[in-house]
Amino acid sequence: MKQRTLKNSYTFEGKGLHTGKFSHVRVCPAPQNSGIVFRRTDLGDDALIEAVAANVSLTARSTTISKGKASVMTIEHLLSALTGLGVDNALVEIDNMEMPILDGSARYYVEAIAPDGLLEQEAERQYIEIGQEFLYKDEKTGSYIRMTPADEPSYEVTIDFGSRVLGVQTVSWDPSKDFVKEVACCRTFCFLHEIQLLASLGLIKGGDVENAIVIVEKPVSEQRISKLAKTFGHPELKVTEKGYLNNVDLHFDDECGRHKLLDLIGDLRLVGGFLKAKIVAYKPGHSINTKVAKLI
Ligand SMILES: [Zn+2]
Repeated sequence: MKQRTLKNSYTFEGKGLHTGKFSHVRVCPAPQNSGIVFRRTDLGDDALIEAVAANVSLTARSTTISKGKASVMTIEHLLSALTGLGVDNALVEIDNMEMPILDGSARYYVEAIAPDGLLEQEAERQYIEIGQEFLYKDEKTGSYIRMTPADEPSYEVTIDFGSRVLGVQTVSWDPSKDFVKEVACCRTFCFLHEIQLLASLGLIKGGDVENAIVIVEKPVSEQRISKLAKTFGHPELKVTEKGYLNNVDLHFDDECGRHKLLDLIGDLRLVGGFLKAKIVAYKPGHSINTKVAKLI
């Protein structure tokens, strides 16, 4: 298969989930063999950061890449969109430190790019193949990622937070399935009881009623809900029968599992290209995902 890039440039803007900082992003075509490269336009022409595992600097709740003084946070949703659509080469210009969270998914990226199709380039795509089966396990969390050599890439994710609301969810994707419809629209999520903690750690400054699924694991008082309703600016806020806040309607019953799949596809793109492997991930997260990308 030949390499592909974008036919046009696409712009996006909005607040970052963790920093709350507003950024403007332009995703542009790029020459063959260049891969995906970010450029911090506010830091000068040479503030380039290649989207590769060696540049990963932080994995707390999102994936950050850095080179020199330049960093970009929360790159995984765009990387997932570009991978799901089959884009080899792209330049991503951004004028601040964090990618916009948009609706918490990769939907806006794929809805902009997919209808135009892609531009085929001269060079052949160089796949990243693994020689033999490989298992990486995090003994502390019990998370693991297993990769087996395969002709076609495929990804399977199981999430298990010990949550009565989420249960255990297993979801999968391979190129025979529609990435746009099945994966890209699935939004990020958090547990209601974590919101205070995350906020105290200085994270989720850009979180609001539009961009996350909120899971209500523990009983919560009317008082707390009405307080949140005020914070969120959502007067009708309540807990649904399934145990989520009603700030958003779920696209799928297993939307949270699908979002972890979206994240895994994005994080593993940091191997620097398209993997030819069967990937099975149990309780994946940005930390283990990017560690595995580094090892490969
Ligand atoms: Zn995510």
